[in-house]
Formats: sequence, structure tokens, C-alpha cells
Amino acid sequence: MGISSIVFIVLLVGASWLFARNFMRIRRNILLGRDVTINDRKGERWALMARVALGQSKMVVRPVAGFLHIIVYAGFVIINIEVLEIIIDGVFGTHRVLSFMGGFYDFLIGSFEWLALGVWVACAIFLVRRNIIKLKRFVMKELDGWPRTDANLILFTEIALMTAFLFMNAADYGLRLGGDLHYSQAGGSFPVSSWITEHVLGCTKESFGMSPASLVLIERICWWFHIIGILAFLNYLVVSKHLHILLAFPNVWYSTLKPKTEIINMDRVTGEVKSMLDPSVQPPVVAPHTVAGVEMTERFGAKDVFDLSWKQLMDGMTCTECGRCTSVCPANLTGKLLSPRKIMMDTRDRLEEVGKVIDAKGKWEEDGKSLHSRITDEELWACTTCNACTEACPVNIDPVGIIMDMRRYLVMEESKTRPALANMLTNVENNGAPWQMAQADRLKWADQ
Ligand code: SF4
Ligand code: SF4
Repeated sequence: MGISSIVFIVLLVGASWLFARNFMRIRRNILLGRDVTINDRKGERWALMARVALGQSKMVVRPVAGFLHIIVYAGFVIINIEVLEIIIDGVFGTHRVLSFMGGFYDFLIGSFEWLALGVWVACAIFLVRRNIIKLKRFVMKELDGWPRTDANLILFTEIALMTAFLFMNAADYGLRLGGDLHYSQAGGSFPVSSWITEHVLGCTKESFGMSPASLVLIERICWWFHIIGILAFLNYLVVSKHLHILLAFPNVWYSTLKPKTEIINMDRVTGEVKSMLDPSVQPPVVAPHTVAGVEMTERFGAKDVFDLSWKQLMDGMTCTECGRCTSVCPANLTGKLLSPRKIMMDTRDRLEEVGKVIDAKGKWEEDGKSLHSRITDEELWACTTCNACTEACPVNIDPVGIIMDMRRYLVMEESKTRPALANMLTNVENNGAPWQMAQADRLKWADQ
């Protein structure tokens, strides 16, 4: 086994181990949430996942961005089939080991090249939309700092990876034109990179603008850059919004199948009310809820990430920060502080903050903060519960559920609400109706 194979195997194993470790940490964080069982109507869930996550059905609502995203997505999935060949070549020191597939291999490599060009162009357009045209949803305050850098970084990385892929093929093709036996024996067709071979590297059948040694060097550098880039990308995913590439599928599978506007009752409260109305019904028993070595207090509503369900936490980790939710939110559009995207980003940031405390101390220790340290009451009360955000989200995230749970906490545990609502709640308590009149007078309007 050659030295390059050994280096390759060390890199591959190291990057895979790091990815697995970080991914398990994310899984642990998500499971800090309340337990909920979601496994009903499995057929519908598979169909939903095929349509929304695999088929990108909600992306194409905005045709230009949707089409470009589908190219990048298809490029990511399909071109990465080639990674399989790169891994085999890297481990065994072979060159284009899958060439034995003949014409089909030529077709695959040719298709990858067109897709790579498509991804290159799509990413360039995305960069222009974000940084030159500055679409409103990409320049909002919540994207200041790392989120904006993250989005740009990934687009530049995609462009660099696709460039390396095409230049690797271009150098390979150049060596074939020069009659290099090792390269000529392998398969592949090069509809895009042959243009680079001729116009950038200056190699044609008639004239050779570069020495074979230089072409081999370019081919090898691009090959290593491509695979190291992919391994780095794999590990970058877990600290970036691009985790959605992996989580979009389970997140859509587990999304709610109930009508979007249905407000979920709290089982505990429903049980208490039933037992008050009917003494034969036992009041609900509260099961102890232990998280990260600590027994949690049962709360009404959500104060911190532990009070949200694991699905709500998975929503936070899946958010792509695309801002489609915020761009249709009537509260945001009318100048209110609320941005459903920020709700999801804050949930994820708080979860990661909690995860770091657990990593550092071995168990959860109060840090004096909560979800409410990041999300203000003003944001929470600005929500009209219209669900336009959940409808628009391409990966079926539900910011409204988190907003409602946090409001519940404010009302039921902190007795905090808006003045208009406080009057209404007092009236309900005193009069059994939202209006300020005695129950006996409620039907007097009919006498008018
Ligand atoms: S449900 Fe709330 S957060 Fe979502 S779009 Fe409507 S107002 Fe905005
Ligand atoms: S919640 Fe959905 S729509 Fe909103 S930013 Fe995240 S992924 Fe985009």
C-alpha cells in the first residue's frame, strides 16, 4: 500500500469519526426535549417526505430560487456518487476504478460535469442575490455576523469544489490528448471540462500548452482538494445551517399531520379539568422528567429548551435560515419585532448553549438563562397564529408551536400578558365570557 493510500485512509477515518462524534452530540441535544410519540399514519408520512424533502415541492413555489436550489441539491446528491469512486481509488491507489461500466460510466461522468456547471452558476447567482441585489430576507438583522458568513462560506465552498472537479477532469482529458497510457485507459466523457482543457489549460490534439507533468500535478491537486473539501464539508455541516441537508428528511417525516391552525391542548390541564368535572376521573400523574442527570420541574408552557418537545428542538436544528417564513409573516411585514426565522435560530442557539454546559460539566447546571433571555415577550405577543410561516417553510418547521408554548409559560407561570388579554382573561374567570357583563345578561342582546 502506497503512502498516498495511507494518508487517504487516515484522513477518511479521522473525518468520519469526527463527524460521527459531532452528530451524536447533536442527537443528544435534540433528545433533551420532552418525549413525544410520533409514529401514526406512516404511509402519509413517507409520502410527505418524498414530496416535500426529496421532491422539494415547497421550494418551487418561488420558481427562480426553487429551480436553482434543485440544481444545487441534485448536484450535491448526484455528483457525490462520484465520491464513492474517489474513496475506492484513494484506498487502493487505482484510477477511475468504475470505468469498467463502459458507456454508462461515460454517461455518468458527462452528466456530473453538466450538473457541476449548473451548481457553479446557481451558487454564483445565490451569492449575487445575497450580496449585491441584497434581497430583503437576506439582509435582516438576525443574519448579522456568523449566519451571513456561514451562508456565503458554503456558496464559495461549493464553487471551489465544482471548480476542482472540472479542472481535475480537464487535466485528465489533457493527458489523454497527449496519449498518456495510464489516463487513456480509463473511461469518462468530458463535455464541459474539455472546454477548460482547450481554452484554459491550452491543450489540444495539435498543440500542447502544458507539460504532462504539470497536468498530472493539476489533476492530483484537484483530486485531493475535492476529497479533502468534501470531508471538511461533512464536518462543517454539523456546525452550520447546512445541517438541513441531513435533517430535512426526518424533520418532514415527523412533522404534524394535524390542521395547521389546531392549537395543541396540554394533556395535563385537560386531565385536571376532567377530574374536576367528574370525581370518578383520576387526576393525571406527572411522570418524573430527568434530563442530563437532573430532574426537571414540570412546567406549564416553555421556559427553556427542556420544556419543548424533541421535535421542536429538531425543527430548530433543521432551520435553513432561508427566511421564507419571515417574508410572509404579517407581523413582520407590518413592522413588528417578530421574525419566525429568528425564533428558530434562537431556539437552536439556546440548545447549543445548553449542550456546551453539559459537555463542560458532565451534566446540566442552571446558567441563569433560558429561551426567554433570547426571545422577548414583545416578539411572542406579536404573533397572530395565522400559520403563514409553517405553510411557507420548505422543511415543514413549526415556529408557531414554540411561540404558543412560550406564551403559555408567560401566562400560566409568570402571570404575564398584554393588558387587553388580561382584561379578557379576568372576564372569562369572573363572567365565563370574554365580555364585561354578568353571565345572566349574556343573551340580552336578543331582546334588542
Ligand atoms: S403564525 Fe405568527 S409567526 Fe407565523 S406568520 Fe403568522 S404571525 Fe408570523
Ligand atoms: S423556519 Fe423554515 S422558512 Fe423559516 S427560515 Fe427556517 S427553514 Fe426557512
